[in-house]
Amino acid sequence: MEKDTIAAISTPLGEGAIAIVRLSGEEAVGIANQLFYGKDLTQVDSHTIHYGKIIDPTTNQVIEEVMVSILKAPKTFTREDVVEINCHGGLASVNRLLELTLQMGARLAEPGEFTKRAFLNGRIDLSQAEAVMDLIRAKTDKAMDVAIKQLDGKLSKLIHKLRQELIETVAHVEVNIDYPEYDDVEEMSHELMQTKTTHVQQEIERLLQMAKQGKILREGISTAIIGRPNVGKSSLLNALVQENKAIVTDIPGTTRDVIEEYVNIRGVPLRLVDTAGIRDTEDIVEKIGVERSRQVLKEADLILLVINQNEVLTEEDEQLFELVRDLETIVLVNKTDLPQKIDLDKVKQLAGNHPIITTALIEEKGINQLEEAIAETFFAGEIEANDLTYVSNVRHIQLLKQAIAALDEAMSAMQAGMPIDLVQIDVTRAWQLLGEIVGDTVQDSLIDQLFSQFCLGK
Ligand code: GDP
Repeated sequence: MEKDTIAAISTPLGEGAIAIVRLSGEEAVGIANQLFYGKDLTQVDSHTIHYGKIIDPTTNQVIEEVMVSILKAPKTFTREDVVEINCHGGLASVNRLLELTLQMGARLAEPGEFTKRAFLNGRIDLSQAEAVMDLIRAKTDKAMDVAIKQLDGKLSKLIHKLRQELIETVAHVEVNIDYPEYDDVEEMSHELMQTKTTHVQQEIERLLQMAKQGKILREGISTAIIGRPNVGKSSLLNALVQENKAIVTDIPGTTRDVIEEYVNIRGVPLRLVDTAGIRDTEDIVEKIGVERSRQVLKEADLILLVINQNEVLTEEDEQLFELVRDLETIVLVNKTDLPQKIDLDKVKQLAGNHPIITTALIEEKGINQLEEAIAETFFAGEIEANDLTYVSNVRHIQLLKQAIAALDEAMSAMQAGMPIDLVQIDVTRAWQLLGEIVGDTVQDSLIDQLFSQFCLGK
């Protein structure tokens, strides 16, 4: 257990109704008590909350009116003594409060340090810790569901089960090596090793297949809207944003003209990329150049190609169809409130397997059908966050792939008739790789790096 007591502001910086300064460590209660005017916090029961004032002990000045929660080890998030000081949300007063706790001997927590302590003290495993991070970043209810499931340890349980299967076969081989006189054990080891590795491999494959959905839940469906000038791209963007309330606009830190907007489509975040190109100029293809738009298209999970029903198809339309031929695309035939001039048969032919939706965006007609088509495309209608275990973390996906590769090697070694104790090396490696997901076999540097990705105060 770490010796020092850490402190941080655990709520987002900015104006809010309340803000929380959180302390964790042996001195947490003592430090809070030195600043607190009210009850003697060292004497109160664990898991209780107390009203009082925060006083600057050097000047005796009242800083804040607060509610203080006292949570004593071990039944806390970090398994250490935890104190949460709830104060009014002003930035200055929260900062002042944090400063005072530091003056009284607390150390400013590093990003993710609370969660890191929870991990180091055995309260949660690594995949759960990562789930905390996902939870903070989750943009829709569904994404949050997935993170909560992971926090609940669903993925960990599955990984533990698979590791158990692998280690049992390895143990079996050990027996075999120690007691070579039993011939039938040798036979069994081979067979058992084959069945078990195949089974574990299948389970991992299944997890990886679902990872794609997990990625979408976490990061959103990256979506590009394309079409000739004046067909209705901005109208589409506005309709989507208005109906669904943009979740994020103008992502901080992007210095270029690229704006990303998130909209929530039936629980799935849709990330509209390069909307600046749509907003600022008539034509995204024209503005950013064909090369660049190819790039945008390549990185998009979904393309919405808009065409105008009120005009005949142009060569440019046909070029756009060509551009998206092999990409996940939904075609929107817009302006259906106006007389039809487009050749719909031709559109169907150009669209190939892409679904076609008719819209009159000016009247906001067709948005529902579009949403349905999106849900259908990515989740066959219904997204099942309920009983599936989604792997949505890049690190986990990589480890799973490596584990599969190790098991592949074990299989080919077995097929090549290699001695079982050599096969065992690959199986053990797979077991180790899976262990890294839950944090059983990870190195310290990795742990530090992972936790540093957290927000301050988590
Ligand atoms: P963009 O250049 O592709 O972004 O097209 P806009 O969304 O700016 O739309 C161009 C023009 O078409 C605007 O005047 C819109 O009001 C109009 N428009 C968009 N959708 C419809 C529609 O469904 N019906 C009609 N009649 N006009 C539309």
